[in-house]
Amino acid sequence: MQATINPQNLLKKHFGYDSFRPLQEEIINHVLNQKDSLVLIPTGGGKSVCFQLPALLLPNTTIVISPLIALMKDQVEALKANGISAAFLNSSMSDQEQAEVLESAYKNEIKLLYLSPEKLLGSIQSFAAQIKVSQIAIDEAHCISQWGHDFRPEYTKLKALKEYWPEVPIIALTATADKITRKDIVKQLGLFEPKIFLASFDRPNLSLTVRFGIKKKKKIEEIVGFIHARNNESGIIYCLSRKSTEEMALSLKDYGISAGYYHAGMSNEDRTKAQDDFINDRIKVVCATIAFGMGIDKSNVRFVIHNNLPKNMEGYYQEIGRAGRDGLPSDTVLYYSLGDLVMLRSFIDDSGQKELSHEKLNRIQQYAETPICRRKILLAYFGETLETPCNNCDVCKHPRKNFDGTLLAQKALSAMIRTDEKVGLNVLVDILRGSHRKEIIEGGFDKIKTFGIGKDISFHDWQQYLMQMLNLGLLEIAYDENYICKVTEFGKEVLYGKKTIAMVKLEDIAHFDATQKATSEEKSEEDLTASLFDYLRNIRRNFAEKENVPAYVIFSDATLKELATKKPIQLSDLFAINGMGEFKIKKYGPTFTKEIKQWLKSNDVKVSKVDTYLETLKLLKNKYSIEEIATSRNLHETTIYSHIAQLYSRGDYEDISSFFTATDLHQVKMASEATGEKKLLGPIFQHLKEEIPYHVIRLCLAFLAKQND
Ligand code: ADP
Ligand code: ZN
Repeated sequence: MQATINPQNLLKKHFGYDSFRPLQEEIINHVLNQKDSLVLIPTGGGKSVCFQLPALLLPNTTIVISPLIALMKDQVEALKANGISAAFLNSSMSDQEQAEVLESAYKNEIKLLYLSPEKLLGSIQSFAAQIKVSQIAIDEAHCISQWGHDFRPEYTKLKALKEYWPEVPIIALTATADKITRKDIVKQLGLFEPKIFLASFDRPNLSLTVRFGIKKKKKIEEIVGFIHARNNESGIIYCLSRKSTEEMALSLKDYGISAGYYHAGMSNEDRTKAQDDFINDRIKVVCATIAFGMGIDKSNVRFVIHNNLPKNMEGYYQEIGRAGRDGLPSDTVLYYSLGDLVMLRSFIDDSGQKELSHEKLNRIQQYAETPICRRKILLAYFGETLETPCNNCDVCKHPRKNFDGTLLAQKALSAMIRTDEKVGLNVLVDILRGSHRKEIIEGGFDKIKTFGIGKDISFHDWQQYLMQMLNLGLLEIAYDENYICKVTEFGKEVLYGKKTIAMVKLEDIAHFDATQKATSEEKSEEDLTASLFDYLRNIRRNFAEKENVPAYVIFSDATLKELATKKPIQLSDLFAINGMGEFKIKKYGPTFTKEIKQWLKSNDVKVSKVDTYLETLKLLKNKYSIEEIATSRNLHETTIYSHIAQLYSRGDYEDISSFFTATDLHQVKMASEATGEKKLLGPIFQHLKEEIPYHVIRLCLAFLAKQND
């Protein structure tokens, strides 16, 4: 009755997933056909399964090369939690530990061996001689290319892989690589006619919101409200500077939020601690520079907030991508201000690659300012088209309404001309609003004709309109001349009435309810589920602490959510839960089903009655041994045998002859005839001098009874 071993079955058995994500199955088959591949799947898309599952089917070891030591440990723990033999080797381990891993590797006992490139290259000759390799996976493969965004020189030496293992299929994986980088990866690794798998960059479970020009104090309050509404959930707040990460964490703590910070200026030790605290849910929110996140696999990050505008779309995409890796609804909010733009522009001016960097900043600014679906813009950047609006970004939720902004723009443009294009944005707004600030009076700006012409519009709103004008190309900011505003050619055409322009109404932009979570279910049932979810989260934490692994290694949030929604009370119900493989069901299933049952009772939820025989049958069909059924159900083995006899009698189970021998059957038959007993076990047991156990007698009697029917 051995089920055929195919990828689909293994996916369920070892990882607990019912179906493949896009591309996974194709990639797996390609690898199993011994062919090279280059896999581009965005973060959270499920790259690991693409080489982990073939690793189980292939006869020898899969070598996984990864530059991120923290991630290595995480992945190995996750594999072990699924009952898969995996190990890692890196320089952070003692000689003794390394020797132990190597010994098992030489004995071909390790299915997946994770290595840093240095480690591999340092001993490649002896590895090639002593480890039997079936597959080579290269994670973060973009690191090999100078064109990529994270070039690592040691990666270029991976060319050697094809020399030592010419026959072994290589699978190179990355989350982001543009066309040049892709080509370069293939060339550098010497991949042979590789197939390139390119997955969609769409992450529909992430909501996208952009907030412009919110004052610092209000912003903090908004963020606090946002976090409070997401009680107990994890999130990251990205800040521009080291100092601001610390300030932000401090402000949040003032409001009773458990927050930490992380930046490259901290000691290694402090950084590791901050990271561990976050991964293990000891702190809920981490305020960090973009240095944070690379080695982090935490799947239940529920929100990512950008306190400032990121430098480019690649970075932004990668950072928001750290939310919702388990596929559950998660929120992202980007705050930005004119100040951010000014600061980022000046950073760029002080660095190399000026033109490219300014262009990249322009693109993210356009994204932030877009009056159409943000997801369309985001995906367009990565070369994809989204046909219909996403309904999960702030623009889709509050569609922008246009108005004829020509007159408004003319007021501002005219004021600019009358100051000889010599003032910055803030002074310009003061002139428009007729401020009597010292600087205005001293500059003589109160004498110009347009002074006070825009009194009816607030300072903040003028900033927003000017931003729109900037994006429409009516004006530009001379970043190299103290940020003064200049009117463009197009701006002059509008000023002189040759062209009209449409602007976006501000009330549409302003609409944002920070406490509104991305969710899907209905009320009351939802409350119950949420409360059970919290309860189960505690049980998960207990396991995690006992095993010293992050909680999501036990179960992802998505799995926990499914448990809370479906509320399974018996083991066999767990077969249908995503993320529950055989191994995890055996290890954690009994505790979770028991706890759920108790929780339901204490919350007065009716629990449907369990057919105890049927439950045994389901477990038998899933190849549970009698002993396993007994332990996991907390019953005696004899009870399970009586279930089997009962199932057999009522025609639900056929195959009981494996539980006794022909001799057993013969003896029981003789004893039954001699004693005239067909039901009670005691007399037969005695008659046979206690040599045949009760449960065997019971099963033989059931068998005989059916024969006589
Ligand atoms: P990546 O390496 O591409 O960032 P991972 O391999 O870490 O992504 O997978 C991201 C999340 O998706 C993990 O929580 C993983 O368990 C889950 N996952 C992967 N494949 C599937 C699948 N076929 N069905 C359901 N969940 C999956
Ligand atoms: Zn949208």
